[in-house]
Amino acid sequence: PGESMGSLGAAGKPHAVCMPYPAQGHITPMLNVAKLLHARGFDVTFVNTEYNHARLVRTRGEAAVAGAPGFRFATIPDGLPPSDDDDVTQDIPSLCRSTKETCLAPFRRLLAQLNDPATGHPPVTCVVSDVVMGFSMAAAKELGLPYVQLWTASSISYLGYRHYRLLMERGLAPLKDVDQLTNGYLDTPVEDVPGLRNMRIKDFPSFIHTTNPEEYMVGYVIEETERCKDASAIIVNSFGDLEGEAVAAMEALGLPKVYTLGPLPLVARKDPPSPRRSSIRLSLWKEQEECLQWLDGKEAGSVVYVNFGSITVMTNEQLVEFAWGLANSGREFLWIVRRDLVKGDTAVLPPEFLAETAERGLMASWCPQQDVLNHPAVGAFLTHSGWNSTLESLAAGVPVISWPFFADQQTNCRYQCNEWGVGMEIDSNVKRGAVAGLIAELMEGQKGKEMRRKAEEWREKAIRAAKPRGSSHRNFEELVRHVLLAKE
Ligand code: UDP
Repeated sequence: PGESMGSLGAAGKPHAVCMPYPAQGHITPMLNVAKLLHARGFDVTFVNTEYNHARLVRTRGEAAVAGAPGFRFATIPDGLPPSDDDDVTQDIPSLCRSTKETCLAPFRRLLAQLNDPATGHPPVTCVVSDVVMGFSMAAAKELGLPYVQLWTASSISYLGYRHYRLLMERGLAPLKDVDQLTNGYLDTPVEDVPGLRNMRIKDFPSFIHTTNPEEYMVGYVIEETERCKDASAIIVNSFGDLEGEAVAAMEALGLPKVYTLGPLPLVARKDPPSPRRSSIRLSLWKEQEECLQWLDGKEAGSVVYVNFGSITVMTNEQLVEFAWGLANSGREFLWIVRRDLVKGDTAVLPPEFLAETAERGLMASWCPQQDVLNHPAVGAFLTHSGWNSTLESLAAGVPVISWPFFADQQTNCRYQCNEWGVGMEIDSNVKRGAVAGLIAELMEGQKGKEMRRKAEEWREKAIRAAKPRGSSHRNFEELVRHVLLAKE
């Protein structure tokens, strides 16, 4: 549909301004929401930071941010000082602080510019913002616009953040000393957490696992997640069968209506279904398509796919443990080692490992993950359990071995392993024996068989939610009619 709004004409079109938090795992789901709105007849302005805009142009060319009729890109500065290396993941706490403290003024100016009749666009009629870009609420409210927030992580992790206060009130956090990180204290069960099941202290999002009562990220996530109550509506990238209970618990906390629109990659794709066909893609790294050709030659379900997302960093020792774990598993593997995966350094892998696995391992620096997960050759996913990766693996029916790194990943991992039946966890102090053992269990063992069965069930449920007239589609339509197009 794009530009066609029947007799209304361009001037009468609704115009949504969509603004993600500037990290890959937030940009992708927001882009999917933006595409859905565009296909539903909205004019869309998608707001990137200048840093990411420049990265996209460098990795994908100007065409990546050229937009389409009725879909344009705009930028605001992220407020961080210039860095020596412009192609790396930015430090998350610094980025949280700088966007919160500096982005409101440029965002206000952007809205004013977009509303200038000289632009030829229709005026802005609604704002869709990432929850953690909550500064934008003030600007939208000043203009009296519907203000919808996208929570890009799981609903269970939203509850985990909101219940930080509960941990603090019960004296369970912050930690008394650093020993509590390793002495088993984090395994303490936490009873009666509204909306969450079988939680231990360690399963709450990671920022609370600190001895510092002033930890910036703790106060930050509490403030940003509590602000949701003043939004017009909340979108989550999830689906009712998976997180209905958590979504109800979010609403019970006094939030406006929470709409599950996921899995967004399935809901937003065009027919014929392939995310690769879509013209607008915002991957900050260049995907190495040869990964797919390599998989083409492999037996069904035989390959272990390893990828820790866009933010995870590890020590070189940990990298080496993963390497030998993969080598000792005897399996074929596709391993994505991001250029900045190893903390403050370049990854150094033992030459013996490279020689031993040359025939059965492919290493690359970034891949088209959804296509990889949907490739029949992939039988297991060694993941950090970022929410997009979690949903993408459920939607592809691939069971996981999880090594959560930070933030919501602990909570996602807990549910993958304990509630959804699709995962097994690796200790944060990763050892090669554990990696090889879990791969064997997943690929050959009874537990692995059961996990594959569960994963397949989730895949079917995800597809059902995402198909035309499925729950996520119906929710999208309701959101558009009742919130985004509603007159005050
Ligand atoms: N991704 C990708 N290719 C890669 C690694 C990651 O396309 O080589 C995508 C992945 O499909 C997902 C996103 O990047 O959509 C990562 O988001 P996630 O929430 O899983 O983790 P984060 O990067 O936020 O830690």
